[in-house]
Amino acid sequence: MNITEKKIAGYERVLLGEDKTAGYRGIIAIHSTVRGPAAGGTRFWNYRSDDEALEDVLRLARGMTYKSALADLPLGGGKSVIIGDNKTADREKIFRAHGRFINTLNGQYIAGEDVGTSPEDMEFARKETTYVAGLHGLSGDPSPATARGVFRAMQAAAQHRWGSDELRNRTIAIQGCGHVGSFLARELHKAGARLIVTDIDPEKRNRVVSEFGASKVSPEEIYSVPADIFAPCALGAIINDQTLAQLRAKVVCGAANNQLLEPRHGDLLEKQNRVYAPDYAANGGGIIHGCCIEMLGWSQAATAKKVDAIYDTILDIFRLAKKEGIPAYQAADRLAEQRVAMRV
Ligand code: NAD
Repeated sequence: MNITEKKIAGYERVLLGEDKTAGYRGIIAIHSTVRGPAAGGTRFWNYRSDDEALEDVLRLARGMTYKSALADLPLGGGKSVIIGDNKTADREKIFRAHGRFINTLNGQYIAGEDVGTSPEDMEFARKETTYVAGLHGLSGDPSPATARGVFRAMQAAAQHRWGSDELRNRTIAIQGCGHVGSFLARELHKAGARLIVTDIDPEKRNRVVSEFGASKVSPEEIYSVPADIFAPCALGAIINDQTLAQLRAKVVCGAANNQLLEPRHGDLLEKQNRVYAPDYAANGGGIIHGCCIEMLGWSQAATAKKVDAIYDTILDIFRLAKKEGIPAYQAADRLAEQRVAMRV
């Protein structure tokens, strides 16, 4: 393994690893270990260039520091990417090389799965390093906990917008019926909400329609449906000029990472008098679940209580935003930065 280190301001370490015999190229970015080891998933993606891969891993690593700090977990933030075709069949060689790369950091970085990687892939990495979390038989699939956290964030946003956290008879538009979107639909259906859903995969969408009595629309229509709450559970960057021109919902709260295309879209949401539950605050349920069960050895009940406390974190963010006269996305960053400064 050939490893080179890149100095990047604001990051503790950024390393590029290459193992030609395994056909492996990857980057590990450690944003912060102030609160604990830098935890964050491995993304396997066919980036158009190394610069694009670097930009992605840096942005994601910083986001992990903020997400864990806001959830008050003893974790820092990091992320890794593997550059290449994530449909490749040659997975063992690649993920074992990734494991060896992770292992050179002696626990400064702990990996998990992310877009393009599966628990099976991470089992290969585990053959080379113990610094891998979220495997089968440990804390398991994080999606139900992520969905529960988003549901609690939605209740808090409703409380802030309408003075009641009751979601019964509210209409929620869910974009993406994948892992998190489908569990979220279940929670919302149980709470008596009305659902409008979409997915580019008709099969996934139809499953949610038949299980939870949701109405379905095309992916293009989801922004303009008459909903109270828009729940992005598919892609990032979906709050942008085009979608804001169509959006009817007064609350935006979902699981997707990096929902704002640019910070100014967070300002625009505020100007339009919409409530935005900052993405990394709302979607922290999965990492809370993984960290509390696997690292801290908490019970399921204590862990679930901590996931539910996302409600209070979201209200803290709105309170700080009001006090400081700043948009919610900035208040979330400030609160996270305060928590990083406080350490654990
Ligand atoms: P997933 O891949 O299971 O689901 C995403 C769904 O979105 C898929 O069904 C896909 O077909 C659909 N989709 C893609 N493009 C779409 C489009 N243009 N319009 C409508 N649907 C579209 O992923 P997931 O695990 O459910 O995660 C959803 C989002 O939440 C991702 O952005 C992820 O990064 C984020 N997130 C997930 C977790 C977790 O615990 N899984 C935790 C934090 C954040």
